[in-house]
Amino acid sequence: MTLPEATLEALDDAGVAVQLDAPLVKRTWWRVGGTADALVQADDLRTACLVRRIATETGCPLFVLGNASNLLVADAGIRGIVVRLGGSLAQIEEEPATEPRIYAGPEALVLGAGLKLTVLVGRMLKNGWTGLELFAGIPGTVGGAVRMNAGTSLGEVVDALVDVEIVQPDGSLALLEAEALAMAYRTAVLPPDTIVVSARFRLTDADPEASRHHIEAHLERRKATQPIDQPSCGSTFRNPDGDHAGRLIEAAGLKGFTIGGAQVSEKHANFIVNTGDATATDIRAVIEHVQDAVASRFGVQLVREVHFAGDWSGWSP
Ligand SMILES: Cc1cc2nc3c(=O)[nH]c(=O)nc-3n(C[C@H](O)[C@H](O)[C@H](O)COP(=O)(O)OP(=O)(O)OC[C@H]3O[C@@H](n4cnc5c(N)ncnc54)[C@H](O)[C@@H]3O)c2cc1C
Repeated sequence: MTLPEATLEALDDAGVAVQLDAPLVKRTWWRVGGTADALVQADDLRTACLVRRIATETGCPLFVLGNASNLLVADAGIRGIVVRLGGSLAQIEEEPATEPRIYAGPEALVLGAGLKLTVLVGRMLKNGWTGLELFAGIPGTVGGAVRMNAGTSLGEVVDALVDVEIVQPDGSLALLEAEALAMAYRTAVLPPDTIVVSARFRLTDADPEASRHHIEAHLERRKATQPIDQPSCGSTFRNPDGDHAGRLIEAAGLKGFTIGGAQVSEKHANFIVNTGDATATDIRAVIEHVQDAVASRFGVQLVREVHFAGDWSGWSP
């Protein structure tokens, strides 16, 4: 597969480097999936704006890849441009406190959307910043976390997000208040075809030692209960109201259920793991089997938390 000629030409004229037929398998947490027609690494705002505008003007689809820790990329790959953010779009900017604080530290952080949450949590622990403990253990980027309203038992993005900067389809920038994103359980609504390039988060003025303790205890609990040593995308399904997806899947007798190299984890039934040679097709087949089995046994329709990306033609939507 290749890009429309007009897209390639425009990217070339603008000096944007493109990797054609770029394999994605090693970039996805499930370690599955095909190639991107074209991969663009946007390490600065100019590139992110250019690539967004060119894709719009030449009618080429554009997909934003974060750390692919919540994505099932099709074996047939992703058509069009896949863009990843890094460089100056993965930085941490401190906003100094305007009022005196008990514990020293900035009042807010402006985080590049390509920043990995593991890097952020490391920096919080090192500098004694508090208020974003919710990110501990989540292997995504800031952009992916905003899109997913990611969260843990320590909170979710909506609790601390102030605003986000986006690149609009015409390549211009816009600032959106958090309230405009209609954030709900593991979802946020971004304007169509936009790229989040940064997000501003409020910090708290709390005891860094207490924060460290919460983070460490939380990470220990995860290690004990989740199959973090095998490729997965974390929780596959959202928890239905008043219940847990993992409990329902386990009660349906599906722990260990396997198709090809994809398996419902024996350790945590809401995780589907790649036991070594899974394809995206195997994983999707397990997802659909689990949904059917839980629906017919308990009358509950499990809703996916994981996003499908790429060319899934031949599958029902
Ligand atoms: C072991 C494991 C544990 C996990 N635990 C948790 C957990 O405790 N809580 C939780 O909430 N999640 C968890 N997850 C899921 C995942 O880490 C989160 O959903 C995370 O926020 C996804 O971020 P990402 O950068 O990987 O996004 P991706 O998976 O790359 O993308 C997810 C969606 O966001 C969009 N997107 C990404 N970046 C941008 C951007 N800059 N602009 C616009 N759209 C964008 C993508 O197009 C896609 O639709 C876990 C995953 C794993 C593998």
